[in-house]
Amino acid sequence: MIIAERKPFAEIKAMVAPYKKILIIGCGTCVAVCLAGGEKEVGLLASQLKLALGLEDKRLEIGEITVERQCDLEFLRPLCDFTADYEAIISMACGAGVQYLKQLCYLQPIFPGVNTSFIGVNNEPGYYTERCRACNHCYLGLTGGICPVTMCPKGLLNGPCGGTIQGRCEADPEKECAWSKIYHRLELEGSLDKMRRIMPLHPHDRSTTPGTVIHPAFKRRYGAHE
Ligand code: SF4
Ligand code: SF4
Repeated sequence: MIIAERKPFAEIKAMVAPYKKILIIGCGTCVAVCLAGGEKEVGLLASQLKLALGLEDKRLEIGEITVERQCDLEFLRPLCDFTADYEAIISMACGAGVQYLKQLCYLQPIFPGVNTSFIGVNNEPGYYTERCRACNHCYLGLTGGICPVTMCPKGLLNGPCGGTIQGRCEADPEKECAWSKIYHRLELEGSLDKMRRIMPLHPHDRSTTPGTVIHPAFKRRYGAHE
């Protein structure tokens, strides 16, 4: 899932300072699970803003709403009429959600309420770690299910590098060398022969952004798509 962290309160307060009526829109999927931008965090932010501005004798009218996913047209479409009443929007979605929301509801300024961090996993509530950089050519089948692009700070497809020290990473000795872990995983699954394989350079065929993925069924039905 996408992991994000809420922006510092002072930064959000400064963003909305010129407005009298704002809408905070939460997202009920990834950012809700990582406790950054779901319904509860929308309520918390609204309360914080009201309290802080109240102490300064300022008044800010705040609307709150949370949709299932802000990266999904199905859930965004109905929002546009609703947003029309507000001077500005804070979106608590990841960067993709903020952009998609603005594309549809473009009449007022929009501000991100969270910083989008990475694609990762939920180890336990409040503890998230990165696992994938969306490289577009997944190697996990060759590396015992450990991502060399993400877990090795050098992103080596053929490791380990010469700096591994007793199984620790030279870039961060606090961490186990990703390629040592890959070796042990492959040993456990009886696939050590994969360590001998020389992987070619990563094809940077999608090195320009933005990327597009069109499902074959979509292509068959609608043809090419911009
Ligand atoms: S190799 Fe790593 S970065 Fe690439 S798609 Fe697989 S998990 Fe993601
Ligand atoms: S020590 Fe291991 S994880 Fe660290 S940079 Fe070298 S190969 Fe990558």
